[in-house]
Amino acid sequence: MSGEKTCNQCGVIVSLELKNIWPSNWKGSRYDCIDCAKAKESIRRQTKEWKDYHSSYGKKHYVDNKDRYAENTKAYRDSPEGKAVRNNLGRQRKMKQKKATTNWIGDNMIAKVYRKAQEFGLAVDHIIPLDHKLVCGLHTWNNLQLLSASENSKKYNNFVADW
Ligand SMILES: [Zn+2]
Repeated sequence: MSGEKTCNQCGVIVSLELKNIWPSNWKGSRYDCIDCAKAKESIRRQTKEWKDYHSSYGKKHYVDNKDRYAENTKAYRDSPEGKAVRNNLGRQRKMKQKKATTNWIGDNMIAKVYRKAQEFGLAVDHIIPLDHKLVCGLHTWNNLQLLSASENSKKYNNFVADW
């Protein structure tokens, strides 16, 4: 394929060797340059007819080829790539579950500690203070202890580092 042609739309001269002609216009005397063809095509794809045709075509194609779709899906799932994707999804799900469970147990325990404190008229104390210049304790159930109100006020934030 060699030579030059002039675009019907914009008059630009296109070299056939550069293959910058819309594929369907390679043969024949009427052709558009690739830019004009693309512009035309994108306008055509905005029409309701085109959209309807393509969505119904996709659905019909799926119904007609259900087995093939299923086979392809299965083949992908069994491929090393598909397996890796699936494993990763499973790992993510497990991690999320673990996180949620840990938080749930933790919150439950904290609630229990506070309930007991109320029951016995004691104060809930953070063994390692949350707000201290040396350390930063966590608001987790295993960093809580019950103290009497007077003990608690004595201890108040006087964390002694013994290491
Ligand atoms: Zn053109």
